[in-house]
Amino acid sequence: MKFILDEKVQYLKGVGPSRAKILARMGILTVRDLIEHYPRDYSDRRNVTKIADALSGRKATICGAVKISSVVPLNMKLSVFKAAVEDPSGIMWVEFFRKANPYHKHDIFSSLKATFEKGNRVFIFGKVEEEFGLKKIVPDDYELVVKEGEEKAFRKVVPVYPLTEGLSQKWMREAVFGALKNAEKDLNDILAERTLKKYGLTGYKEALNGIHFPDDMECVQKSRERLAFDEFLVLHAALAVSKKGTENIRKRQEYGVKKDILTPFREKLKFEFTRAQKKAINEIFRDLQSKKPMNRLLMGDVGSGKTVVALCAMLLAAENGYQSAMLAPTEILAEQHALTINRMLDGLPVRTALLTSGEPKAKKQREKLLNEIGDGKVDFVVGTHALLEKSVVFGDLSLIVIDEQHRFGVLQRASLTQKAGTPDVLLTTATPIPRTLSMTLYGDMEASVIDELPPNRQAVETLHLDETSAYEFAKKQMKSGRQVFIVYPLVEESDKRELKSAVAEARALSKSEFSGYRVGLLHGQMSTKEKDGIMTEFRDARIDVLITTTVIEVGIDIPNATLMIIEHADRFGLATLHQLRGRVGRGKEKSWCVLLGEPKTEEAKKRIEIMTATNSGFDIAEEDLVLRGPGEFLGTAQHGIPVFKAGNIVKDGRLIEAAKGLAAEMIAGDPDLKSPENEGLKKAVLKTHGPRIRLANIG
Ligand code: ADP
Ligand code: MG
Repeated sequence: MKFILDEKVQYLKGVGPSRAKILARMGILTVRDLIEHYPRDYSDRRNVTKIADALSGRKATICGAVKISSVVPLNMKLSVFKAAVEDPSGIMWVEFFRKANPYHKHDIFSSLKATFEKGNRVFIFGKVEEEFGLKKIVPDDYELVVKEGEEKAFRKVVPVYPLTEGLSQKWMREAVFGALKNAEKDLNDILAERTLKKYGLTGYKEALNGIHFPDDMECVQKSRERLAFDEFLVLHAALAVSKKGTENIRKRQEYGVKKDILTPFREKLKFEFTRAQKKAINEIFRDLQSKKPMNRLLMGDVGSGKTVVALCAMLLAAENGYQSAMLAPTEILAEQHALTINRMLDGLPVRTALLTSGEPKAKKQREKLLNEIGDGKVDFVVGTHALLEKSVVFGDLSLIVIDEQHRFGVLQRASLTQKAGTPDVLLTTATPIPRTLSMTLYGDMEASVIDELPPNRQAVETLHLDETSAYEFAKKQMKSGRQVFIVYPLVEESDKRELKSAVAEARALSKSEFSGYRVGLLHGQMSTKEKDGIMTEFRDARIDVLITTTVIEVGIDIPNATLMIIEHADRFGLATLHQLRGRVGRGKEKSWCVLLGEPKTEEAKKRIEIMTATNSGFDIAEEDLVLRGPGEFLGTAQHGIPVFKAGNIVKDGRLIEAAKGLAAEMIAGDPDLKSPENEGLKKAVLKTHGPRIRLANIG
């Protein structure tokens, strides 16, 4: 027998092919999708207001008998249907405007006329208005009383659904109601009675009915919690299963601390590691020396010194004769990493090579490098997406570092890990992931946090100024020998028009405001060589002010740059603004970030406020998550983040924790979910996470 939940919505009574098409636009394909299309809000229509007490400007539910009704044409296109409704306390008008062609045969008011026939009792919900002493209601919804006490959408709390054009609340309500009724016998609970008791949860069927057609708001809350609990439970069960699957994997590489590279490296280093860096290095080394492949996320705010921590891991690999790869999201960053690494390792027996789409350029040289990577002659391969290409084959790749991992999709990260046998993987990110989120995203991953900045760093001060003051500020900084970034929003690297503005601006500024200074220009459409040249000049302080785009967003490290001016700051998201700001404040000198532009939306205003108020990447990430929601915060498609319909990763920390605990318990007792009691959970795990869970396991 077929499972009704998996049937196409089209076959439900009252849906049909054309409505099914509209529903598909909202991602509703099956009966299950429709049942899981939860209300976005509720309209409380339990209390009926006396007409005499209905206040103008407020929403109210009234109930009364129809006295009279009529249709009044307003013009050739628009008519209004008016009815007067009376209850013992008073009388009120209700109006329905409709586009009406008077020559059209079909009477578009026929159903209204039937409902509002003289003497009928009706319920109306809507906003009350008062004009010349006459009360009127603008109807959101209405219903004819067929049998007292059996109203469908009145005298109760009514769901309000997310809709799209072509659907009405009333229609959606009935469709969901029908779907629930039809699928009733298939709504099996994945939790046993005693589990429900233990966690104080509502039954599944009850919860579904309760979220759509609740008795009161408390019922909504309990129902939502139950459905969210299931979502988190299923995810954590999936993660636990996949973790079990990889638990027995033993890696081939073995690390011993030989001290022949790491020790001289440390002696040469110009600074001491911070306490947090030391802790992270210890954690990473412990992972490397264990028999299981490392799967660790290194989180730390911009400028906290993640590169050198990752480098230590790579050096340990090199000491033991293994190859490492470091993947960076942009060419400029990859180049910078290669440069820094080369500089720090000067004199040590380690070979580092850079591989990007532009570098090495000459075919012969590229082939030679690819061969050397294949032969294992290169110890560290630093590069961009170019590393993922098929032609890149490693001799003995054992350690993979993915810098700014949030910039890469799940598949990209996987395609690099597949180039090694059982690699140790270290992911770094400066977009700290709030705890509840990381628990659901990386439930199976270890994390190290660098929660302090190197000493002598001064907090970057952020100001919202006008352009003139900003340029004055810039000149002052340059006069005292410091360097300045000016960033233009170039959201898409290919956006030619926007690019022109940065290019034109650079030219104009170099002739006017900054005529006495050395102005440089850097953008994504320049060749690798050109970019490289400009970055080197800026690093060597042969450029005073660098006019650029978000190509310098991540990672770039120029300690002498003390001012970051962001043009049209209102157009950037919080994560980008914080990353851009992180380009300054990397040396001993006090640094500033100046935001230009007038925010036009409330959200943009809030972003600027947050930026001027806090320097903590963690706080910013939390705010960002609240402002944009988890989907956009992480970029759903790119990150393969699970979608929750009832659950809210930002607010449901306690539920997530509980669900995670239960999942662990269930999997421990029944690792393959074989027992009949766990059948439902197993099905749900496979259905929801089957396609992506192996990937989730690696990041
Ligand atoms: P991020 O965490 O943003 O990737 P980087 O690794 O680029 O930060 O480091 C930022 C700067 O801080 C670099 O110039 C780096 O050399 C320096 N740095 C890193 N660790 C320390 C330390 N313990 N003491 C002083 N400077 C440090
Ligand atoms: Mg970095």
